[in-house]
Amino acid sequence: MSEQDTSQQDKKNQKHKAAMEKQKAKVDARIEEASTERGVALLLTGNGKGKSSSAFGIVMRALGYGQKVGVVQFIKGQQLSGEEMYIKDHCPQVDFHQMGTGFTWNTQDRSGDIAAAEKTWAIAEPMLKDGSYDVVVLDELTYMLAYKYLDEDTVLNALKNRPVEQSVVVTGRGGGSALQDIMDTVSEVKEVKHAFKAGIKARQGVDL
Ligand code: ATP
Ligand code: MG
Repeated sequence: MSEQDTSQQDKKNQKHKAAMEKQKAKVDARIEEASTERGVALLLTGNGKGKSSSAFGIVMRALGYGQKVGVVQFIKGQQLSGEEMYIKDHCPQVDFHQMGTGFTWNTQDRSGDIAAAEKTWAIAEPMLKDGSYDVVVLDELTYMLAYKYLDEDTVLNALKNRPVEQSVVVTGRGGGSALQDIMDTVSEVKEVKHAFKAGIKARQGVDL
């Protein structure tokens, strides 16, 4: 490397260090400001891939701290997912439930879907009242609101009135602005591209 190159690298390194110091000061100040200690309500929505898998990332995090986790999936998978198989076999501290019948894109049976939604909600609702659960994941719940299979006020009140220390993660597209309003963190996963659209099949361990 020539002397000129070395001095340019030094300049770049110094600039980077100054920028990082500034960034660190900002983040530290924000961490200092955050003073409320309580559970968080998180909504993972949008058209891109990554909502449910992110929710299961949070399940892993909670398990790392020895926390108790409830998972309720408001959709009937046509195939068992990897997370479902793993959790059922290896994680007795996760209370895992999936809608047994109804709601798939194939059923087209509204009254059957509503009955299945209500039965599944009857499992989720008590979790949202039970302070022994540190984290409750309500996977694909938004569709139950979008299709009006569940009463919006009932669901939103249960989310709002959950134990102070309990965190809740809701996934699914849409869900409405009233849901967004009551959540603390709302992330929209945007689709930039998806392998499926290039004809690549859903992959075990990645998509299911
Ligand atoms: P994942 O469970 O992979 O995190 P997700 O929860 O964001 O996905 P869902 O709408 O619940 O998305 O769809 C679940 C399945 O559909 C997964 O197999 C996923 O790869 C696939 N999928 C997600 N987004 C898209 C998309 N934009 N186009 C096609 N398939 C998708
Ligand atoms: Mg999903």
